[in-house]
Order: sequence, then C-alpha cells, then structure tokens
Amino acid sequence: MKFRNFKLVGYVVYGRGSFNQLDEILAPHRKDGQPMVFLVDHFFEGKELVNRIPLRDNDLILFADVTTEPKTVYVDELASRLKQEFGSISGVIGIGGGSTLDLAKAVSLMMNNPGSSADYQGWDLVKFPGVYKVGVPTLSGTGAEVSRTTVLTGPTKKLGMNSDFTPFDQIVLDPELTRNAPVNQRFYTGMDCYIHCIESLEGTFLNEFSKSYGEKALELCRKVFVDKAGWDDESDDQLMMASYAGGMSIAYSQVGVAHAVSYGLSYLLGTKHGIGNCIVMNHLEEFYPAGVKEFKHMVQKNGIEIPVGICSGLTNAQFDQMIDVSLGMKPLWENALGKNWESIMTRDRLRALYEKL
Ligand code: NAD
Ligand code: ZN
Repeated sequence: MKFRNFKLVGYVVYGRGSFNQLDEILAPHRKDGQPMVFLVDHFFEGKELVNRIPLRDNDLILFADVTTEPKTVYVDELASRLKQEFGSISGVIGIGGGSTLDLAKAVSLMMNNPGSSADYQGWDLVKFPGVYKVGVPTLSGTGAEVSRTTVLTGPTKKLGMNSDFTPFDQIVLDPELTRNAPVNQRFYTGMDCYIHCIESLEGTFLNEFSKSYGEKALELCRKVFVDKAGWDDESDDQLMMASYAGGMSIAYSQVGVAHAVSYGLSYLLGTKHGIGNCIVMNHLEEFYPAGVKEFKHMVQKNGIEIPVGICSGLTNAQFDQMIDVSLGMKPLWENALGKNWESIMTRDRLRALYEKL
C-alpha cells in the first residue's frame, strides 16, 4: 500500500474583511521591478472591490474572461504576455470563482515552465515551481482554493495540471466577497461542494481523513441549503468553510460518477462545471440514492431550475466523444464503483445515462 503524500496550501487567512490584509500579506513577496499581477474575475470590472486592490509600483490588474471555463490557449496567452512585458513577476493573485482561481494557478506555473500548459495536463508533469500565487475566492464550492489541480480545456482533453507545485502559496478566505453572487450561481457552485462530499463519502477510496472533512462539509451544506430558507451572512461563512473542507476531503479521496459524466458534457457542449454536475446528479439515483433524494429536495427548496434534455439531438459520434472523455477519468470511476468499474460502467450503460440528461 502506497499512501498519498499530498501538498497543502501554504498559508490560510479566514474571516470577514480579511481581504484588507492583502497588502501586508503580499509585502514580503515583492521583488524589485517585478509586479504583482491581480487576475480578477471580469464580473468585478467597475465594481467597488477593484478599488480595494492594494496596487503598488508597477502592479497591474488583468480582468479574467471566464465566459467559458479556462482553456490552455488562454493560460498560454496570459503567461507569454507577462513574460514579454516583465520577464518575470513577483506573483499572481487570482480573485474570483473557481475558473479565475484555476487560471491564476496555471499562469503562475507557466511563468516558470517551458512550452504550453497543454503539455502539463495530467498528473505530475509540471517540472518547476511557479511564481508566488494567492487565491481569493468570490464564490464558494469548487474547492479550487485548496486543490492540487487546475482544470483546463486543451486541444485534446479537459484535464488539470495536477502537481505538487499547483496548490496556492496563500489563500484569503473572506466570505464577504461572496455576498452578491446570484442565487442560481451560488446554488450551482455550492452543489459542487455537496456533490464532492457525496462522491467522496460514498466512494471506495474513503478513509478517516477524507471522511472527517467530508462529513463536516456536508453538515455545513445542509445548514445552508436544507435548514434555511433564504440567505444571510452566516450562510456565506458556512459555505466558504464547506468548500474548504470539501476540497480537503477529496484531496485524500476522489470525486465520482457525477464528475466523470459531467466532464463529458463540458468537453463536448461547454456545460459549466457547477450546473453540469447538477444536471447529472439529478439522474444518479442508482448510484447515490440518498444523496440524489436530498439534492432534489434542495433544488426545490431553493427554487432552482435544473436544465433537462441537453443531450437530445446529439449524434452517435457526439455521444461517443462524451463517453470517451468520461471513461478516460479512470480514478473517478474506480473511486465510485471499485476496481472492477469497467465491467460495471459499460459504454452502453453510460450512453443510456447521457441520453437521460
Ligand atoms: P466560475 O468561476 O466559472 O464563475 C461563474 C460565474 O460567476 C462567472 O460568470 C463569474 O464571473 C461569476 N462570479 C464569480 N464571483 C462572483 C460573485 N461574487 N458575484 C457574482 N458573480 C460572480 O464558477 P465556479 O463554479 O466557482 O467555478 C467553476 C470552475 O472551477 C470550472 O472551471 C471548474 O473546472 C473549476 N473547478 C476547479 C476545481 C479544482 O480543483 N481546481 C474543482 C472544481 C471546479
Ligand atoms: Zn467539482
């Protein structure tokens, strides 16, 4: 038995208003002549948060276009632009949802690694540590703030740059920043966390480490989406910690069926991670009966619409492509269904599942 020896985030600050400490946190990491680059979710362009960014010297703000989920070409473009302009930078600070956090991690790595980010999609392919990187989430649920991956869509696959160099050096968890998220977005991203918990807790890779975090995250998700009607500051606080704990839970286990199937949707149809997971979870009674029942209850209680019929009209070739992408996620299937997963999740069974979505 070989135990996973995993790298964690370097520093964590948590609390309402902790964003105000960013200047102080960055100060020791500033290098002469090299800027701090704030990669900010484009949602915040023209918003008050931008005025609170602690710019010094030649620092710059780049707005991240997250209309679609991060692509390797976009990462390469940002990194080569920064290399051309500055040689190197002191650090990159991602401020936004999971997409912006992933972009920031990837740009940090590509400042110090040759070639294209597509060359590093996989496990432990990154050769050199990136530049100093900080993650400041403005949505809660993905766990991207703690994970050792950065999910990217490349020319041939949708796969993360999984490596010990990937986790942030610092994260700033300030629940105030999630306050204005729209109800639907908050739900979809929050459900990413709920689904991480179900997949981790029901998976074959489960151990006491990931169970401890998974159970806590699940309890917090229930406080937010089951016990309460409506939203308050406490919900933002709780969901931010749920995301963190959910991320810690999968760090020592793995996600499962919903993610494996949703990756196929995302690759072919560009369906976003949070909503894609919800679309799939809606039909997974046979794998996660209790979780799906509770999921449906939360959907109803929070007044959310989950799209249906998104695969109607697809061609055989398109179904095949989704099936290929999905079955390529071997560790996810193994976690969900055990070592024997290939005989359980056949192409026909997966096709039938995609047709239901
Ligand atoms: P997102 O980052 O894709 O953002 C969704 C939308 O919300 C965007 O339009 C964004 O502009 C907007 N937004 C962000 N913060 C806001 C705020 N405070 N108020 C209003 N709008 C706001 O959404 P997400 O669900 O956080 O992240 C999904 C991404 O995370 C996917 O790209 C997925 O692949 C990735 N992901 C990564 C990991 C990992 O471990 N690295 C894990 C899960 C998901
Ligand atoms: Zn997820």
